[in-house]
Amino acid sequence: MNQGAAPKVSFVSLGCPKALVDSERIITRLRAEGYELARKHDGADLVIVNTCGFLDSAKQESLGAIGEAMAQNGKVIVTGCMGAEPEQIEQAYPNVLSITGPQQYESVLEAVHRAAPPLHNPHIDLLPPQGVKLTPRHYAYLKISEGCNNRCTFCIIPKLRGDLVSRPANDVLREAEKLVAAGVKELLVISQDTSAYGVDLKYETSQWKDRDVRAKFIDLARELGEFGAWVRLQYVYPYPHVDEVIALMNEGKVLPYLDIPFQHASPDVLKQMRRPAAQDKTLARIKAWREECPELALRSTFIVGFPGETDSDFQYLLDWLDEAQIDRVGCFKYESVAGATSNALDNPVPEDIKTARWNALMARQQKISAQRLKRKVGTRQQVIVDEVGPTVAKGRTRSDAPQIDGSVFLSSRRPLKVGEIVTAKIERADQYDLHGTVAGF
Ligand code: SF4
Repeated sequence: MNQGAAPKVSFVSLGCPKALVDSERIITRLRAEGYELARKHDGADLVIVNTCGFLDSAKQESLGAIGEAMAQNGKVIVTGCMGAEPEQIEQAYPNVLSITGPQQYESVLEAVHRAAPPLHNPHIDLLPPQGVKLTPRHYAYLKISEGCNNRCTFCIIPKLRGDLVSRPANDVLREAEKLVAAGVKELLVISQDTSAYGVDLKYETSQWKDRDVRAKFIDLARELGEFGAWVRLQYVYPYPHVDEVIALMNEGKVLPYLDIPFQHASPDVLKQMRRPAAQDKTLARIKAWREECPELALRSTFIVGFPGETDSDFQYLLDWLDEAQIDRVGCFKYESVAGATSNALDNPVPEDIKTARWNALMARQQKISAQRLKRKVGTRQQVIVDEVGPTVAKGRTRSDAPQIDGSVFLSSRRPLKVGEIVTAKIERADQYDLHGTVAGF
């Protein structure tokens, strides 16, 4: 480090949006203390790797990122989900400076202070009031709780992150207000189980402005809707109380969008997975939601090849997809994860059958998704602009979350700005994306 120059930190953030929020918090604190972010490992004073330990493939990716940082820099601090079980990292890279688990912000900062002490010139006022965000300025993830009370057999997140701990409602609302004041146009509400928000707090109220707000999913969603930004709900389970949020969609308070990780449809598989809110009324519930709010877009993820999944379980899932008409689907082949209780289940599905099922599900779903997208051709849609190029811009409708869903490619008679929300006439749909022209600003 040059004498008098701010220490530089290179940061690698792996894993899900929840890990991204942790990264943002660490970076915000470092920036507040006068650290600078480096673009490359080479030349930085140290590297922080925020790891993901969800699947074995994610662990491999994390180990690869640590290896790269060790080779290019040599001063490496590891944090995040994989840090909760440090043995594997210690074995591969005994010289990393420190290893901590998720949300251990203080320990990460202590390790940074030891390796590259901060300058005694913290330009705290230079820090934007909303903190430093790794997501583009026009959208931001809002984490409302940590941990999870469920015990899905394939998942080790409760082991890594512990039971559900919700933030008080006024704390979440304060953050949302700051984000919107700083220019954020879309709030993506995330947690491991968004619909369980506040259960641990017994839905305790906290004071926000002139009123008391309960730490409850529906109350929080209603209040978030007051800021005038798009509010997108992710990782929701189909508990009966979720029905209430559909009315807020019709009022325009939250987006007509739900990301519900169903993971399977067959009752036997769901039972083996120990999924929350797994019950045969889900299809009826989806139907009722769509009747009440025809615009509702549903996104989900599924796992094929779970131990014990039979041909008829899989056929059940395909038939269910035909009925449910989910708009966007992600599918994973089951992978055993060290520490997951599903590892002990009988009847593992051979890899070639997993692959065949994955292909069959994706083919079936592609047709459904394409048909649902086609229904938008000829309509007018609100579109938030994500990227602007010389001739076309790229954005998303209210039915599309950033990074995981599709895009709208827009032509416009005047240049568009990132973060602007426009009305577009949709002219064409392909398998994943829409194409249209801006018809109103
Ligand atoms: S709901 Fe299930 S899959 Fe999701 S974090 Fe909790 S235990 Fe894991």
